[in-house]
Amino acid sequence: MRLNFVRKLTIMTLIITMSGLFGSAGPVLPASPPGPPPAEALQRLLEGNSRYVSGHPEHPNARPSAAPQHPIAVILTCSDARVPPEIVFDQGIGDLFVVRVAGNTYDRMLLETIAYGVEYGGARLVLVMGHDLCGAVTAAVKVYPDKHAGEMLQNIYPAVKDTADAKGDHISAAISANAILVAARLAAEPQLAPLVAEGKIKIAAARYDMTTGRVIILGGE
Ligand SMILES: [Zn+2]
Repeated sequence: MRLNFVRKLTIMTLIITMSGLFGSAGPVLPASPPGPPPAEALQRLLEGNSRYVSGHPEHPNARPSAAPQHPIAVILTCSDARVPPEIVFDQGIGDLFVVRVAGNTYDRMLLETIAYGVEYGGARLVLVMGHDLCGAVTAAVKVYPDKHAGEMLQNIYPAVKDTADAKGDHISAAISANAILVAARLAAEPQLAPLVAEGKIKIAAARYDMTTGRVIILGGE
């Protein structure tokens, strides 16, 4: 009797958990078990980045694999060809759930993708990573506040506006502010905010330096 109840409760919990993201359509695929805690995932990324920077990458999981994916993090970063997350963090097949768009912002479809990586992929860390010399942020700074600019650039406008009075290089300030603002916006999205509040996931901002290869965490981490 008691066992039955526990079993029912477990199944109900599973159904509720799985249906949370996909709404009335129901879950598309069964959810993965949760990945490593956010702090551990971040440590693994930074350790991989150190290997990459030092010129001693391990190139883990470099063989083709159709095994179920268990990404340790969702990475939202720029499409810039010089910022490939798997190489920068010395990770391999199945390790990262990557979302890329010039200027590392997001729209509705990318938000769904990020939430998918969390719910289905089991990733508990979402890292928004900008980079120096970003062409998209540079363009946004130049055309701001033109309302005829495309969505890709207009999504960067809040960071351009916030850093208008920043000392030094406006573009560089906007690059960091953009990653921080996008991470904060993501953390407030209804799909993700409850998970952030419960400590189940963490959303952090980072910046990649193309000359050194080093990734630094922004926002006091
Ligand atoms: Zn860029």
